[in-house]
Amino acid sequence: MSTADIQDPRFTDETAAREALENIVWPNGPVCPHCGNADADKLAKLETKSARPGLYYCNECKGQFTATVGTIFEHSKIPLTKWWLAMHLLGSSKKGISSHQLHRMLGVSYKSTWFMTHRIREAMRVGGLAPMGGDGSIVEIDESFIGRKAGFEVKQGTGHKNAVLTLVERGGSARSFHISEVTKAEIMPIVRANLDRESHVMTDEAARYAKLGDEFADHHAVDHLRGEYGYTDRVTRVKVNTNTIEGYYSIFKRGMKGVYQHCSEKHLHRYLAEFDFRYSNRVKRGVHDVERAAKIVEGAKGKRLVYRRPNESPLA
Ligand SMILES: [Zn+2]
Repeated sequence: MSTADIQDPRFTDETAAREALENIVWPNGPVCPHCGNADADKLAKLETKSARPGLYYCNECKGQFTATVGTIFEHSKIPLTKWWLAMHLLGSSKKGISSHQLHRMLGVSYKSTWFMTHRIREAMRVGGLAPMGGDGSIVEIDESFIGRKAGFEVKQGTGHKNAVLTLVERGGSARSFHISEVTKAEIMPIVRANLDRESHVMTDEAARYAKLGDEFADHHAVDHLRGEYGYTDRVTRVKVNTNTIEGYYSIFKRGMKGVYQHCSEKHLHRYLAEFDFRYSNRVKRGVHDVERAAKIVEGAKGKRLVYRRPNESPLA
């Protein structure tokens, strides 16, 4: 983190942190989350000494609210300055950042930090997106294996591991999915739902991908088993390889093994969202740290998470 970042008032001044949050949650001014009232004349900021900072009163429904209602920050006792710092660090650390390290940096308990990071991952998670790729765009598809499924003791092969399917557009974004098994039946519905039909697709030579050319603009396969690491198509001059997705998985695996030391099956989709988010919002695509944290806040809307259950281990 550069010096300028540390001096950003969002990380040190609670009022600045709250205002920065309000500006993102309410780009056109406050909106009552209870009744949808956005009429400034019918909303009053409560600025009495006893009122919580940032508290509004709605004359329509007589309700009270702050900008955190309905977001991952709702009901959090952690100062927003620390939330901003956590979002900044998680958003800008290429391989992720462990809750242990973050807990020491933030001065927040380990358990609270663990819940913060899971909420932040949830905010990073995007769903219901339009298909990726398109005319002239190259999308690489592959699978990877990570961790171990619950109840599997055998360590040979990949059957005991969690399978991940990823689509990466060259020069673009990444989408990863936790899949139950690496089969055509499991993979194809995801590919069809997430990939524009005009896309040029590159995969390895696995049989499950053999017919992709029928459904998309075209399909090239690289045969890794034959030691083929790519070639240039004679007609189109397109570079046929899966280097982009291998680069993605390299970062993902270094993060999951080195930083997170794996995770349980039930949380894998959130870690995938984290790695996809950083990849899709990287500096090379013109997204810098400040915007990246702002995008997390944008994604925090409608993601109120209450999954602290009695006796739930934070290590689960
Ligand atoms: Zn209202």
